[in-house]
Amino acid sequence: MQVAVYPGSFDPITYGHLDVIQRAARLFDRVVVAVAESESKQPLFPLEERRELAAGATSELPNVEVDAFTGLLIDYVLRRGSRVILRGLRAVSDFEFEFQLALTNRRINEQVETMFMMPRDTYTFLSSRIVKEICRLGGDVSPFVPPSVAAAMTRRLAGHHKATVLQ
Ligand code: ADP
Repeated sequence: MQVAVYPGSFDPITYGHLDVIQRAARLFDRVVVAVAESESKQPLFPLEERRELAAGATSELPNVEVDAFTGLLIDYVLRRGSRVILRGLRAVSDFEFEFQLALTNRRINEQVETMFMMPRDTYTFLSSRIVKEICRLGGDVSPFVPPSVAAAMTRRLAGHHKATVLQ
């Protein structure tokens, strides 16, 4: 059984992530979307909510599971009986960081391979950071994230937006 682990902050999950997940679900027996704590990135959503939003967005894909993890990614991948780390590549700008990450993980464990997938062209510009910025400024995020995620973002950012408007 081939299990692929797709790690990330997923703060929150977007249609870009979902595009990668759908492609991977067609290639692997099982895809584990692994939501990382990413404390240093000061996420908008707590880990558990990021996990719940990702689980809701992938509930119709039977071979996709969403889990949260802390600690070293390689340890998690091995614990899950996987040898494949999946990452998404959008543009050249992603390359340098992903290259560094993939080779570092290879140095930690030679048995684990990192594989890259590109999303549909319409999603190559999409990032959680930009979607959060649009929402913060009161814009419509429905083209970029599933409805449940858009609702959660509006709830979480509503206070912030009001404060900005009143300034
Ligand atoms: P991280 O904090 O680990 O970069 P992200 O949630 O931002 O986590 O992204 C997880 C993975 O998904 C990364 O490999 C990232 O490049 C990829 N990714 C993010 N947005 C998209 C997108 N729109 N299309 C394809 N891949 C994406």
